[in-house]
Parts: sequence; structure tokens; C-alpha cells
Amino acid sequence: MPRHPVMRIGAHTSTAGGVYRAAEEAVALGCNTLQIFTRSPRMWRGAAPPVRDVARLRELRTEHDLTPLVVHGNYLTNLAAADPDVRGKSMRSFRLEIENARAVEADYLVIHPGSAKGRPVGEAVEGLAAALVEAQQGFEWGSLRLLLENTAGGGAALGRSFEELTMLRAAIELQEADVPLGYCLDTAHCFEAGYDVSTVSGLRETVREMERHIGAENVPVIHANDSKTPLGSHRDRHESIGKGYIGADAFERILRHPKLRRKAFILETPTDEAGSHQPNVDRLRALAPGRKNQSSRPPSRPARIRK
Ligand SMILES: [Zn+2]
Ligand SMILES: [Zn+2]
Repeated sequence: MPRHPVMRIGAHTSTAGGVYRAAEEAVALGCNTLQIFTRSPRMWRGAAPPVRDVARLRELRTEHDLTPLVVHGNYLTNLAAADPDVRGKSMRSFRLEIENARAVEADYLVIHPGSAKGRPVGEAVEGLAAALVEAQQGFEWGSLRLLLENTAGGGAALGRSFEELTMLRAAIELQEADVPLGYCLDTAHCFEAGYDVSTVSGLRETVREMERHIGAENVPVIHANDSKTPLGSHRDRHESIGKGYIGADAFERILRHPKLRRKAFILETPTDEAGSHQPNVDRLRALAPGRKNQSSRPPSRPARIRK
């Protein structure tokens, strides 16, 4: 292993026009990892991406060392739902999600645990585990890994704490199904849920808690988002890096933290007037350690993309 492994910095890019377009955008931004939706995140239906688009995506990933590829799940899916109709739809939706993620050769599929909506947390967690396990029956995970994302904990949202994420994992393991499970940490959600990653001591405590409950090795992906709402607000509003309550200094510490710096950092921040992630990508790169990262910044013109 090289002494200074390459930092992985990327953004959630658009698949409008084909899944490979997201990779083209990532390359133009100077990213070496990316996150995508494989279908509309606010619709139940969605088709598998065409094979030729996937082939082009594969080519671009190889050519530009774009890894990992992260797929973010649909927002409607709530595997913890008590309502049989929503539960059934969510199971079909989740099945489609994992099939699509596999089809695009993604490394990770990130999902939100869902909402307890009026049920006690323990019951909702059990319901979620049962629905998840049933929905993936017969599915070959291959190298794809499922990541549960922590949430801001608004309303009845599950996954607001590391303890709750552990509960989910334990409930899934109880089903004795072979689901390759890890976690994705969102910095804004951490902060909004009450983990103060904005200060030196708060970050130290958060990482300690993460280690104790879920293990740093089980967190391959970090969503790097600043927060528009204050500590413990439970209101999920992403802000550009350095412009929110978390702040640039905190992101510098997060990017340089020995337990975090080898993770894939993915931006889900607001785009600029031109719809570009470039300002936030540049900001993260500037805060990241190592001269190599600074010099690998892209030219201001988009990188040439072979058609
Ligand atoms: Zn998310
Ligand atoms: Zn996120």
C-alpha cells in the first residue's frame, strides 16, 4: 500500500442523458469518486440503465480512476413502514435499487433507514430488518455493499445515532441473512442530530463514538456537507462547505483525521448559479492534506472527454 494513498473526493452528479454522463461530469470537476441516482429519487418506478450506457460508464471509470461508485437510494422507500401498501411498494423499490446498483457495477448502495412513523423504534427496526431481508432474497450481492446512512433524526426518522445504526445492523443479522452491510456518515446529518463535528473536542468525541458503536472500518463513505441549521436542529438542510454552521476549519480537521482521511468524501451540497459543484469540490481539495491533491486540481476548462 502506498504511504500516501490518494484521497477520494467526489460529488453527487447528474445522470440526465445516461448514467455515464455522471462520470463525465465527475471527470470535468476533477473528482475521483462519485455518487448517482440510477432512477428518479422521487418516483416508485424506474428502468434499469441501458447496457451500452453502463459500458461507457465502466470505460470512463477505468480511464479516470473513478472509484468508488456510490448509488444513493430512492427517497420514497421506507422499509420500516407499518402500512402494508407502503411496505410492499418499498420492498419492490428497494429490490429495483439493488438490482440497478449491481447493473451499473456500483461499489456501494446508500439508503436511509426509513421512518418509524408512530411505531416504537424497536418495532420499526424489526420491521425494517424483516422487509429488507425479504426484499433481497435470492439477490447476488457480488462486490456491492449496502450502506445505511445516518440521519438528522427529524420526525420519526431512524438512524439519528450510532446506537440506532447498530440496532439496525443487529436486527438484520438476527434474520440470518447474508447482507453485506456498512454505514455512510453524513457530516451535516451528524451535526443536525447533535454530534458536534464543528469543534476539535466534538469531532474527537464523535469519532470515538463512531469507533465504539459502528467501527471506522465499516464506514467507507462520508457525505461531506456543511449544515444550514444549528447543532441538534434535527432539520436536514445541506450548505456549501465553509458556509454553514460546521465551517471550513472543521472540514479541514475532518479531511485530515487519521480515522477518516481514507474514506471517500462525496459532496451533496448546493450547486452554484451555473448548476456546478466546482466551487465545493475546489474548497474540499484545498482543505485536504497533501500537495499531490492540490496539484491534481483540474484546469478551469473541463477535462477533455473522449466520445
Ligand atoms: Zn442520503
Ligand atoms: Zn447524505
